[in-house]
Amino acid sequence: MIEHDGGLRVEGTSLWLDATRSRDRCFVSHAHSDHAIRHRRIIASPQTARLYEHRLGKTVTETYAYHDPFRVDGATCRLLPAGHILGSSQILIEHEGRRIVYTGDCRMRESLTAETIAVAPCDVLVMECTFGRPHYVFPEPAEVARRLCRFIEGAWDEGRTPVLLAYALGKSQEALKLLGDRGYTCVVAEPIFHIARIYEEFGVRFGRYELLDPGLDADGAAGKVVILPPHLKRSQVIEDLGPCRTAMLTGWAMDRNCRFRYRVDEAIPLSDHADFQELLALVRQARPTKVYTVHGFPEFAKHLRLLGFDAVHLG
Ligand SMILES: [Zn+2]
Repeated sequence: MIEHDGGLRVEGTSLWLDATRSRDRCFVSHAHSDHAIRHRRIIASPQTARLYEHRLGKTVTETYAYHDPFRVDGATCRLLPAGHILGSSQILIEHEGRRIVYTGDCRMRESLTAETIAVAPCDVLVMECTFGRPHYVFPEPAEVARRLCRFIEGAWDEGRTPVLLAYALGKSQEALKLLGDRGYTCVVAEPIFHIARIYEEFGVRFGRYELLDPGLDADGAAGKVVILPPHLKRSQVIEDLGPCRTAMLTGWAMDRNCRFRYRVDEAIPLSDHADFQELLALVRQARPTKVYTVHGFPEFAKHLRLLGFDAVHLG
């Protein structure tokens, strides 16, 4: 049903799913770089195609709105929202009397900037399991927001600039929206700024935010929250800002050593992935007869087998 060799392919079709090697025609679930590599032609949502071309340059795109049917090699397909980042899609493939869903990266909780997931009942579910261990249960969104605000206010109380480290695509915009809605002004690095502009093209409305100027110092950043991609943690940008407090925004914050691993003052569990309970909820709602897990801990499939699902991890 599913072939696994340099990416996933639906048996009997030419349909590749987030292939890790360049293909003639490939479904791209979302524009994160571990899912979106260069292909000759891509199938994606319009939002993903826009973000993909922003990152990888012009390409041949076949875009479909969520829920609109289209045909590939005798199969009827539909893209469904995945709740991960703007434009992230699952693909539902009806082929030879079976319904196959490939989730890509997904999240069940509501996001401020990504479309809400639509779970489709299916026979075969191919799902991510990034946080497929039982201790990855994220706090409620309101609690995460409180922790974020507490971190920012605490930094200011100490006379330091709060710096949030977040991936340029998705996580940064989620933080930007969350903070903007609460009246904070953010200063963001260039890649985050350009992607936020693309989010706006698709109707996401942010509060006040500014492009970070090179050489921004503590005075210039006073009263503002700085958001940077994680690789800028050790950079001139941080040096110029003077005394800072840094927080990494990541689901891995549930690991006790996360703060040390990322060498930050704090780790806050703002995640764009499903946690362990959400992954289980997804499977229960989809009611598949076969589950393949990808992108995560192999033992998640074992948890599913203990719950009575026929589940296999694809390495
Ligand atoms: Zn992703």
